[in-house]
Amino acid sequence: MSAPAREPWREPPIGLLAELTHRCPLACPYCSNPLELTRRERELPTASWERVLEEAAELGVLQLHLSGGEPTLRSDLEAIVARARALELYSNLITAGVGVSERRLEALAEAGLDHVQLSVQDVDAEGCDRIGGFEGSLARKLAFAKAVRRLGLPLTLNAVVHRHNLDRLERFVELALELGADRLEVAHVQYYGWALANRAALMPTRSQLDRSVAVVKAARERLGDRLLIDFVVPDYYATHPKPCASGWGRAVIVVAPDGRVLPCHAAHVIPGLVFPNVEEKPLRWIWQESPAFQRFRGFDWMQEPCRSCARREIDFGGCRCQAMQLLGDPEATDPACTLSPEHARIMALAEAEAAAPPPAFRYRRLEPVPA
Ligand code: SF4
Ligand code: SF4
Repeated sequence: MSAPAREPWREPPIGLLAELTHRCPLACPYCSNPLELTRRERELPTASWERVLEEAAELGVLQLHLSGGEPTLRSDLEAIVARARALELYSNLITAGVGVSERRLEALAEAGLDHVQLSVQDVDAEGCDRIGGFEGSLARKLAFAKAVRRLGLPLTLNAVVHRHNLDRLERFVELALELGADRLEVAHVQYYGWALANRAALMPTRSQLDRSVAVVKAARERLGDRLLIDFVVPDYYATHPKPCASGWGRAVIVVAPDGRVLPCHAAHVIPGLVFPNVEEKPLRWIWQESPAFQRFRGFDWMQEPCRSCARREIDFGGCRCQAMQLLGDPEATDPACTLSPEHARIMALAEAEAAAPPPAFRYRRLEPVPA
C-alpha cells in the first residue's frame, strides 16, 4: 500500500533568495554556486521575476535577498527592486560591489532598496585581487561601501574566511568599523559548489579556527552594539551541524537564475529530486506541495542517530546536501555532527587537507565578463 499523501505545508517562507544571474566579474574559489553555471540566455526575464515577487508576497514572504552571481549585472535590477518595494518586501542586495557606479546605487536606492551586503575577499589589495581573481577590486569595494553609507543605506560587510585570509581577521573588524557597517558577517567557507572543488586550497587548520573564535569573541565584547558580528564556523570542525537553511523547506525559498525553485542553493546535488520551475508552476504550490520541498520536511525520513535525538528539532539532522556530497546518502546524519559514525573520518580529512601545502585555486568561471 502506498503512503498517504502529505498535508500541504502551511507556514510561509520568511525569505526568498533570488539568484538573478550566475554571471559575475569575480571568480572566487569559495563560491557556493554550482560548477555548472547557468548562462545568460537561460536567465528569467524581468516580467517573470516581477511575477515571482508578486507570488512570493502573496505567499507571505517578507524578505527578498537579491543575489547571484552578481545581481547588479542585471540591467533590470532597479525594476525588480521597485516591484519589491511596491509589494512591501524588504530588499537586500548581496553584491561584490566592483562594477557599481554611485549613480547606479542612487537609482537602486530611489527604487526602494533597503539594505546592502558587500563581500570583501581580503583586507589587503593583493589578497583581495588574488582571492577574487579581479584586479583592483579592493579600491572599488571601498568606494562602493562609502557610497552606500553616503546614501544612508544600512551596510553589512561579508567576510568569507579561510586559510588564506584568517590571519587578518582583526583587520576585517577594523575595516567594518571604518566603513560604518552595522554588521559584520564572518563566515568560514561552506563547502558547496566551487568551494567544495577548492576545499583543500581553502581549509583552515584547527588552530586558525580556534584563533578566529577568540578574535570574534574579543571583538564582540569590546564593541557590543557598535558592530553586530555574525559568525559561521566551518562544518568540518563543528560539534553539531548547522540547521541548514533553517531546515529543509521551512524558512527559505531559492529561485535559481533559470527559474528552478530549490529549498537551498545546493539542493541540486541530491539525485532524484525534480525542482519545479516558476515558469511552469505557481510558487505557492511549489512551496506547499511539490515533492522536492516535501522530501525532507518532518522527521519520518531520518535515520539513527537523528531519529531519536533530542536536537532533531534544533538542527533537523544538519544539511542534506552535505550528507549527499560527503556520504552519498541524503538521509544520513550530516557528518559535521560528532554523533555521526562518519564524523571522525571527515574531521581527519579536513585536518589532513589543512596540514598539506594548499593547491592552486580553481577559479570560478562562466565566461569572460566585462568589468
Ligand atoms: S562568491 Fe565571488 S564569484 Fe561567487 S558570486 Fe560571490 S563574488 Fe561572484
Ligand atoms: S544526531 Fe542528528 S539530530 Fe542529533 S545533533 Fe546530530 S545531526 Fe542533530
